Amino acid sequence: MTTNGSQQNGPVGDVPEDANEHCPGTQSERAGKAEACAGCPNQQICATAPKGPDPDLVDIAERMQTVKHKILVLSGKGGVGKSTFASQLAFALAGKDKQVGLLDIDICGPSIPKMLGLEGQEIHQSNLGWSPVYVEDNLGVMSIGFMLPDPDEAVIWRGPRKNGLIKQFLKDVYWGELDYLIVDAPPGTSDEHISIAQYLKATSVDGAIVVTTPQDVSIIDVRKEINFCQKVGIPVLGVVENMSGLLQPLSSLKFKSITINGDEEDVTAAVLQEIQRSSNLLQSVYTYSEVFYASSGGAEKMAKDMKVPFLGRVPLDPGLSRAAEEGRSCFSDGSCKLSASYLNSIIGKIQCTVEASADSSSKV
Ligand code: ADP
Repeated sequence: MTTNGSQQNGPVGDVPEDANEHCPGTQSERAGKAEACAGCPNQQICATAPKGPDPDLVDIAERMQTVKHKILVLSGKGGVGKSTFASQLAFALAGKDKQVGLLDIDICGPSIPKMLGLEGQEIHQSNLGWSPVYVEDNLGVMSIGFMLPDPDEAVIWRGPRKNGLIKQFLKDVYWGELDYLIVDAPPGTSDEHISIAQYLKATSVDGAIVVTTPQDVSIIDVRKEINFCQKVGIPVLGVVENMSGLLQPLSSLKFKSITINGDEEDVTAAVLQEIQRSSNLLQSVYTYSEVFYASSGGAEKMAKDMKVPFLGRVPLDPGLSRAAEEGRSCFSDGSCKLSASYLNSIIGKIQCTVEASADSSSKV
């Protein structure tokens, strides 16, 4: 993303990285001819290239006409649970009988096939376009992960090739009628973000959900992500604080006695028996540990400072990690009860916002 001041005037992605200050944008009638273009390395190309909107944007807009709501899931850093959130959001909405598509454009690290239990699946082509891979009749998934012959192979692509694939995903995948398209974007504010923002703006996008962990190293990057959304005109639906403390039922804890020599003994049974004898705490009490130190107040404070909605917290939950590893919904059985209840509350808020504004002009 360029920091060029003219970015606010021209369409997103319309100003090359190496452009001069006050570049009018490559699509402007003044491209290559404006005063600011003098001496720019792109001047000649800009002056002679055909102008006007990218014809692919028209195809994308047409393809997306059958999609009611489009939600982008973003994060400033990798490893904060963005794909986990995107996949559980898709499972949750599908569980509410919505028709859902999940599009994974995290091209260099596609984890959605695994998180949806679809490893080893392939994409098929029909006369209508590329067919998503279906978890259920109402939950389809598209990812570059389905196209890689070897999951251990690194995808080393430059910007234009990545952008080409994103464009194809939006233009050529036949989703049919969808209530929701969830887009799992790569972390950071790279080329792919600029592309997806530009392409989704050609249709209409409800907004972005930004996932972060509580500590400053993650929050600092999230501020950039929110600024990015504001610059490109994508509404921020809200911020989710993931891995927000470790919450465990007292009954699931293990206890060890450790001597100064380092000898260990498992005393779980004895300790739990003792707790049970003195009260009924095993049924109702959870232990909470603040794993990541939120030195500047965490995501809620940051959201308040940046005037964007705070959607809630999701604790670290071994059950959720296991559901993601096994490609399962965390709502279908009781194995991640805790995180499921937090996720449900957040997803309810997202649905309220998006569905309430369906007919309003808040989409871009
Ligand atoms: P990202 O998409 O931000 O790179 P992932 O969604 O791949 O991050 O999550 C990284 C790892 O953390 C995964 O193994 C995932 O299962 C785990 N994880 C994410 N959120 C939680 C959580 N709330 N509790 C337990 N494990 C989690």
